[in-house]
Amino acid sequence: PSFAELGLPVALVQTLRNAGIEKPFPIQAATIGDALAGRDVLGRGPTGSGKTLAFGLPMLARLAGSPSKPGRPRGLVLVPTRELASQIERSLDEAALAVGLRVASVVGGAPIKRQADRLARGVDLLIATPGRLDDLIKQRSADLSEVSIVALDEADHMADMGFLPQVTRLLDRTPKNGQRLLFSATLDGDVDKLVKRYMHDPVTHST
Ligand code: AMP
Repeated sequence: PSFAELGLPVALVQTLRNAGIEKPFPIQAATIGDALAGRDVLGRGPTGSGKTLAFGLPMLARLAGSPSKPGRPRGLVLVPTRELASQIERSLDEAALAVGLRVASVVGGAPIKRQADRLARGVDLLIATPGRLDDLIKQRSADLSEVSIVALDEADHMADMGFLPQVTRLLDRTPKNGQRLLFSATLDGDVDKLVKRYMHDPVTHST
């Protein structure tokens, strides 16, 4: 199927086309329809398989149309590293703009004041490393009570890096009935625990 046939809005399809992205990669073809329909999705695939658009496009499509309140993003992407956060932000920036959504990333090692100010101006889709987001919540600059979709990217790396206690604490601050998308190169061990605890009847796609 094409991106349009998977159910993505024309504005997103057009942005992809402008970037030379015409045909979905297998993981995108397998997961976008289910994610758009509101299902929890478990996607297994290596880096470079196209996971960012697999979770990012359905998130943007589902969040489009109503703005988030200051400090209260409605979409959240948790990632293990700063590099991955900025890579995802760059990948989704144009598409977000095309559907009127504001994307920002908050990561360690950058001034927290500027991130707090950014959140206060309003962010619809927040990309974050767990430690920095935790800090922003503690100082009341971020609130996850209105997050309707969460994506966990490279969940296996977050587990390897010892982030799971923080990740579970953050997930516990999001609404229980929210949609959850989890992408990982492997789905065993600690990642499986996360899946069992936080995902509702997920559809699993392996590529
Ligand atoms: P990712 O696995 O999300 O890091 O994506 C790997 C690379 O593939 C990125 O540079 C994307 O821009 C690119 N990419 C993702 N999906 C597609 C697609 N359907 N067609 C062409 N390139 C893509």
